[in-house]
Amino acid sequence: KGKFLEFSHVRTIRVYCRVRPFLSGPPDMQSTVDYIGENGDIMIVNPRKQGKDARKIFTFNKVFGTKVTQQQIYVDTQPLVRTVLDGFNVCIFAYGQTGSGKTYTMSGPDLTTEETWGVNYRALRDLFSTTKARQDMIEISCLTLTFHTLEIRNNSQLNGLNVPDASLIPVTCTQDVLDLMRIGQKNRAVGATALNERSSRSHSILTVHVRGRELVSGSILKGCLHLVDLAGSERVDKSEAVGERLKEAQHINKSLSALGDVISALAQKSSHIPYRNSKLTQVLQDSLGGQAKTLMFVHINPEADAFGETVSTLKFAERVA
Ligand code: ADP
Ligand code: MG
Repeated sequence: KGKFLEFSHVRTIRVYCRVRPFLSGPPDMQSTVDYIGENGDIMIVNPRKQGKDARKIFTFNKVFGTKVTQQQIYVDTQPLVRTVLDGFNVCIFAYGQTGSGKTYTMSGPDLTTEETWGVNYRALRDLFSTTKARQDMIEISCLTLTFHTLEIRNNSQLNGLNVPDASLIPVTCTQDVLDLMRIGQKNRAVGATALNERSSRSHSILTVHVRGRELVSGSILKGCLHLVDLAGSERVDKSEAVGERLKEAQHINKSLSALGDVISALAQKSSHIPYRNSKLTQVLQDSLGGQAKTLMFVHINPEADAFGETVSTLKFAERVA
């Protein structure tokens, strides 16, 4: 498959953990992250317990501490992104409770400075620079999956993205994408808080389709990259949420656990992969499993108050690793 198979050895499923820094408060604030080992270990400590029982170790493919830059994160993501050029389908997910750094990893805090760009823009820049030489065609589509997202129909035109109202937009450079994002943001015309509130309750999927002609045989090579900023994984307190809000929260939790079920079934090479249990896994079905490759970034907020969510995040991650 393809001419540029140099990255085809990249593992099918990988899990990276990223710990965000404290945003405010004294620098000596007690972190729930006790230490991060070289080989993908992270030890967490329960602030309300003493002794041996207070600590627990989890192991992933990599763990990134609070000082790791966006550039360093991308170095370990790039080989996977490049497999798209060999015709593989790839999903990169950001998982974690609201405020743990998902959007920071995927988009970055500020689009105006390239240094802080997240995985999305770095991946696009990377794909554009390689495909330019090969005269490949790149199209992108953006999709927000909410509780209210309408039915999903099969649409073979959208490789892997079976959604009726998603449109494919041809783009030629990263600037085109940035422009699209800005227009998108303006059209939404909501403040930062509202945006954050909304994004914490929806899955946002940026899909990059790459279509090229294999240089020697002339056959068409298609690959796609899904960049997914997932809804916040926090459990909602039943005493606080009621009605639609509670239903929505339960729906999000259900779709995240359905995603976990699919990835863990894939990791265990199970004969039945339960794609049909959520819209999220249905939309991404063609890019989960088979030849496709998956990277899950799980995000940790190191504050003591977040300890319970940190444990559930790490347990989720351990199940899919
Ligand atoms: P989420 O998308 O998971 O809700 P955000 O990405 O919006 O979380 O991050 C919450 C806050 O923490 C933001 O102000 C963001 O800029 C900051 N932040 C997250 N990760 C980092 C990081 N690695 N370094 C510095 N600041 C971070
Ligand atoms: Mg976010």
